[in-house]
Amino acid sequence: LSARMSDSHVAAELGELVSAFNSLLDRVEESMKRQQQFVADASHELKTPLTIIDGYVRLLQRWGKHTSEVREEALAAIQQECGRLSRLIQDLLILAKVQRAPFAIQNIEIQSLVPVLQEVKQAWGSVFPHHIELTVQWREPLLVAIDRERIRQLLDILLDNAKKYTEKGSVSVYAYTERDVVCIDVEDTGIGIPQEELPHVFDRFYRVDKARGRSNGGSGLGLAIAQSIVQLHRGHISIKRTVTGGTKVHVTLPSAQLNEQE
Ligand code: ADP
Repeated sequence: LSARMSDSHVAAELGELVSAFNSLLDRVEESMKRQQQFVADASHELKTPLTIIDGYVRLLQRWGKHTSEVREEALAAIQQECGRLSRLIQDLLILAKVQRAPFAIQNIEIQSLVPVLQEVKQAWGSVFPHHIELTVQWREPLLVAIDRERIRQLLDILLDNAKKYTEKGSVSVYAYTERDVVCIDVEDTGIGIPQEELPHVFDRFYRVDKARGRSNGGSGLGLAIAQSIVQLHRGHISIKRTVTGGTKVHVTLPSAQLNEQE
């Protein structure tokens, strides 16, 4: 009897092991599929500007000698596509870097968020056109354990988006502490994101409006990078439509204030 009991015990354990192994295999397969999809998407994104450049080079070869308008148009287009390629490659490199956890964060230090916010206020103040009002405000204390460069990068991405997709009105950044987290809200009165698109905007290369995204110089990688930076800091990022139809991004980072007291 005891031999049979131990047999069934072994069988149950084996069954558990097999199912754990299967679920691990599923996860590996899923991650490989995502990786393959990423490589396919990245290749496609890199290929598009190259195809356009190739087209204009052919045009130049055929007509460039004779017509100065063709020359000018072709050179301007080639320059624009080169700029797009270079931004895309830069974003791909940043994404690769921030997704190489846990080594991606190098200079984590407990500090106040205020100097970063002051820097952002200064830098973006002159970038926004006059008809869009930019406000950067905060309520101290704002103590966080952060890689300052990365958090600056995060805010730059969010402000760049707010600027790209806001034609009039205002953009506001507000930072405050709520219980054990430091919150940063970036809100705009821009064109907004349709409700059904919201779950996808953190996906790599996802653009709500492909044509507009491209002409704005967007790579579709900004929010994916932003999300990776926040996750590296064990924080959380979410995006929603505001009542006026604009966009609000809500970031939370663990507060260092409470952690120290604990
Ligand atoms: P992109 O480089 O194209 O801006 P992102 O990953 O930063 O890529 O954003 C993904 C998409 O989400 C954008 O193409 C845009 O359609 C939408 N989006 C992001 N931020 C905003 C915003 N503040 N207002 C409206 N749409 C936005």
